[in-house]
Amino acid sequence: MRIDLRSDTITRPTPEMLEAIMNAKVGDDVYKEDPTVNALEEKVANLFGMDSALYFPTGSMTNQAAIKMHTQPGEELIADKYAHVYNYEGGGVSFNSGVSCRLVDGTRGMITADQVKACINPPDFYHSPLTSLVCLENTTNKGGGACYDFSEILEIKKVCEDHGLGLHLDGARLWNALVATDESPKDYGKVFDTISVCLSKGLGAPMGSVLVGRKEIMDKAMRVRKVLGGGMRQGGFMAAAGIYAIDHHWKRMEDDHRRAKELAETLHNNPAVEKVDPVETNILIFNLKEEVDEQVFFNTLKQNDIHISNLGPGKLRMVTHYDYSQEMHEKLLNFIKNQEILA
Ligand SMILES: *Cc1c(COP(=O)(O)O)cnc(C)c1O
Repeated sequence: MRIDLRSDTITRPTPEMLEAIMNAKVGDDVYKEDPTVNALEEKVANLFGMDSALYFPTGSMTNQAAIKMHTQPGEELIADKYAHVYNYEGGGVSFNSGVSCRLVDGTRGMITADQVKACINPPDFYHSPLTSLVCLENTTNKGGGACYDFSEILEIKKVCEDHGLGLHLDGARLWNALVATDESPKDYGKVFDTISVCLSKGLGAPMGSVLVGRKEIMDKAMRVRKVLGGGMRQGGFMAAAGIYAIDHHWKRMEDDHRRAKELAETLHNNPAVEKVDPVETNILIFNLKEEVDEQVFFNTLKQNDIHISNLGPGKLRMVTHYDYSQEMHEKLLNFIKNQEILA
């Protein structure tokens, strides 16, 4: 039995999702004539109580489009040093928008209103780049699936309003945060100018992300998506998977969160493990003791068909997801408890 916890992106469509794909009504979405894409966009916009939504092939593209819509070349955005938009989108912030990133030394990928305030360049000081956008991430990826305290987000919003800054949320795993904190998407829709959500992460759709936002800014979204090469034709087949995923795979994420916590507890008791970061959602980051050979540890897992990610020196990552079953979970818990080489 292969156990793959490298990422929550490795899931495959279930038979029921495939049926939804097969039955989708489609048209040419570049003409805005695909009824299923339109339905997905309307569904997500309504969910967040926002004016409009647009379907994109990837979450990198929704983020990059949002940054483009919010900024002009030469300006600066503020984000945590772990931010996906900075670390994992191929330098797209500078490539696509000609914008620089002011990185904040936050906690587990999250920043505070005071930190944001301290990073804003005075607009009349023309030597510095003009600060125009704040990008938050929830849950944080490199931060180990941590969730923002919503009251901090409200404080950050206040700072943005006081200084005329846009506020974008990279909500690739916002679905997880909403389940873990019991918050509502509408709370987020009221605060952010734009929000990107992924359908291809824990929700289990094969692809796709949605950008939702306020009308004034979303008016630019169709053009920017086209420029980035993200205009798709009969996208409805994949949008149908997205609709199915939101309806059937969202609330079950609490299973992923429970399993990640149980794995954390078991790892914590393993003598090879130095430290397990707090687990709030479906991402688990842990460190090995100095005397443990990371390669041996990694290979032992691999030989037993257990696959996890190595984030660099001493940092290992497991991500639970829809295709990680209870049966796999019990097998892995037992393995961590009993395997000699891991101890
Ligand atoms: C996965 C992810 C994205 C988008 O990734 P794509 O692979 O381009 O869909 C954006 N932000 C975060 C935090 C992510 O984890």
